[in-house]
Amino acid sequence: MTIWKDYQLAYSLVEAVEAYDQAEKPVCFVSGGTDLLLEIQQGSHPAMKTLIDLNHINEMRELKVMGEQIFIGAAVPVSQITNSALIKEHAMAVAEATGLIGGPQVRNSATLGGNVAHALPAADGMISLVAMDAIAITYSHSGYSKKKILDLFKGPGVSALGNDEILVGFEFQIKKPGEGSAFDRVMRPQGVALPILNHAVWLRKKDDVVEDVRISFGPSGPVPTRALLVEEVFRGNKLSDETISRAKATILKTVKFRTSKMRATSEYRYHLAQALLEKVVKIAWNRAGETE
Ligand SMILES: Cc1cc2nc3c(=O)[nH]c(=O)nc-3n(C[C@H](O)[C@H](O)[C@H](O)COP(=O)(O)OP(=O)(O)OC[C@H]3O[C@@H](n4cnc5c(N)ncnc54)[C@H](O)[C@@H]3O)c2cc1C
Repeated sequence: MTIWKDYQLAYSLVEAVEAYDQAEKPVCFVSGGTDLLLEIQQGSHPAMKTLIDLNHINEMRELKVMGEQIFIGAAVPVSQITNSALIKEHAMAVAEATGLIGGPQVRNSATLGGNVAHALPAADGMISLVAMDAIAITYSHSGYSKKKILDLFKGPGVSALGNDEILVGFEFQIKKPGEGSAFDRVMRPQGVALPILNHAVWLRKKDDVVEDVRISFGPSGPVPTRALLVEEVFRGNKLSDETISRAKATILKTVKFRTSKMRATSEYRYHLAQALLEKVVKIAWNRAGETE
């Protein structure tokens, strides 16, 4: 089967957007191709006349500190993110999430840009970026723009990016003393791709209480969300057994987990969510304690 007719390499964002304009349609961007090419091959995505490869755009391949922010280029292979000392220091949730995507071969090609642009509500890298409160930098014919990570999604598999809009990279705050993050997930045995449930936590500890916290589960609805009412239970409180019990009860009342034919029942997801919450929030808390 023909997956594309014309494959173009872009060396700058301007070139990529111009190539998109002028390309024989239908056209789309490709990074690692680990989602897109498989979907075209399996018939769940229409075949493209033109693919525009974003992997040679230097600013999309950078991973660096910019003042008070960490910047991860959207085309950095996720294996590089996982192994980065900078990401391990500032965002363990992101290092852990990207380290669980596929196997080594997939991780050497897959990118965070593709993980987010594909807009699946349980994508691992994306869920970790939600807990880090990441901002996406995008580029289109109207220039650069910045968007909150949660504003990038319209529905399962449907991103809110414009047709010619490129995810250039993601930024989030550097880690300050007393802050920590963590990620974990549960997969079907021998499962590939998306997990039954994943979970990311970022928190700030002060004077033995959780001063601030961000919590995300995937999938927990058609688009990624934060578990805001669960966060409220922790804010301003000690990380005691009593707080964790109230947080678990709040998951049952306020977070939406559905049954999906291929993965799990909603009951099982509620069960896992409580166990994951207790595990992951304690890891983030201990990490926060290391730098207080
Ligand atoms: C065997 C296997 C195992 C996998 N396991 C996991 C897993 O455990 N967890 C998980 O989350 N995912 C998993 N995946 C899915 C996939 O690898 C990831 O979602 C990956 O991060 C996608 O990135 P990519 O660069 O390959 O995207 P691509 O396939 O290149 O692109 C995906 C989509 O995003 C668009 N796109 C890509 N880059 C950009 C950009 N910079 N700006 C705008 N649009 C863009 C493309 O047009 C396309 O629509 C797995 C896939 C395979 C094949």
